[in-house]
Amino acid sequence: MAHVKLHIPGPVEVSEKTFRAFCSPMIGHRGQGFKDLYASIQPRLQELLYTRQSVYLSTSSAWGVMEGAVRNLVHKKVLNCMCGAFSDKWNDVSKRCGKEAEALQVPWGSPIRADEVDRRLATGQFDALTFIHNETSTGVMSPLAELAALKAKYPDVMFIIDSVSSMSAVKIEFDALGIDVLLAGSQKAFALPPGLTVFTCSPAALAKAATAKDRGYYFDLVEFQKNAALSMTPSTPSIGHVYALASKLEDIFAEGLDARFARHAKLARMTRDWAARHGFNLFPDKGFESMTLTCVNNGAKPGSRIVDVPKLQKLVKDQGFLIDGGYGKIKGATFRISNMGDETESSMQALHAALDQAMQQL
Ligand SMILES: *Cc1c(COP(=O)(O)O)cnc(C)c1O
Repeated sequence: MAHVKLHIPGPVEVSEKTFRAFCSPMIGHRGQGFKDLYASIQPRLQELLYTRQSVYLSTSSAWGVMEGAVRNLVHKKVLNCMCGAFSDKWNDVSKRCGKEAEALQVPWGSPIRADEVDRRLATGQFDALTFIHNETSTGVMSPLAELAALKAKYPDVMFIIDSVSSMSAVKIEFDALGIDVLLAGSQKAFALPPGLTVFTCSPAALAKAATAKDRGYYFDLVEFQKNAALSMTPSTPSIGHVYALASKLEDIFAEGLDARFARHAKLARMTRDWAARHGFNLFPDKGFESMTLTCVNNGAKPGSRIVDVPKLQKLVKDQGFLIDGGYGKIKGATFRISNMGDETESSMQALHAALDQAMQQL
């Protein structure tokens, strides 16, 4: 179907094949057909996340599980590592859940570094932290391995990690990192329709969740594990999403994980080069640029060319592509271009050609 192709950082373009799978006939979610479907994708989900733990499917966007992780795992006080709109929001959400929460704020555009986290955790006040691997609002990828190395020093602190816009595009080895929760929404790098969250938990997180009062039902981690043991979900899932995910996993493993990771890195580099060719610099600090989207500086920081972003968006949209005009307080002072999902060198070249043409018309 003719449509404007999404190059915003989620939702992204969904392939015909994925849509066909999404539209499979419904089955009962307590029947053998669903259990077989669920069980059939578990090994690949575990391979994708480099884990031996169960991988859970939540019918919600990512925020559901982000909030759920806080409700299940913060019993004392949470340290929210904040470097952009989504990670900042997690502090607000933690407080709204009635939790004691402290902000570790770095300037937007900068990553979260382990030494600062270490200093805060050393106070002994915290039993959990939240951390966003790829802060989608700023296009910054914070060093996850560096952070995860702290877990050995603070084994009782729950490391809750949002990889919403990096899971399946960047290698994240859940078991080896030793982290406690890893989650992602379906509409980002998985290139599925929005509405599903894929996540996994450490045994320590499950044990701790079991002792949590007021953890509710819908996002109870213990319920997810109990049901996963029977190849089911706690409540009626979006069955179309599970079919779509099964189809996407076929694609992912046909390509190969390493090839998929390399493709995302290459396509992100291509967009960074496009920006440089047009006299822009990037919003993220050097060396911490995302592999799944490019956040172009358009006056939020000094030294860049500045263009009329809404006009640029319109000129590109007229050619069939939607790019993002910046998020939150850096709207218009940045713009963002996604390379998540099924993009290829030639599809990105087509987008860059449209952007080239738009730049000439500005
Ligand atoms: C998109 C996004 C979210 C929020 O996802 P929802 O689908 O709106 O719940 C959270 N964190 C990051 C890093 C994101 O990119």
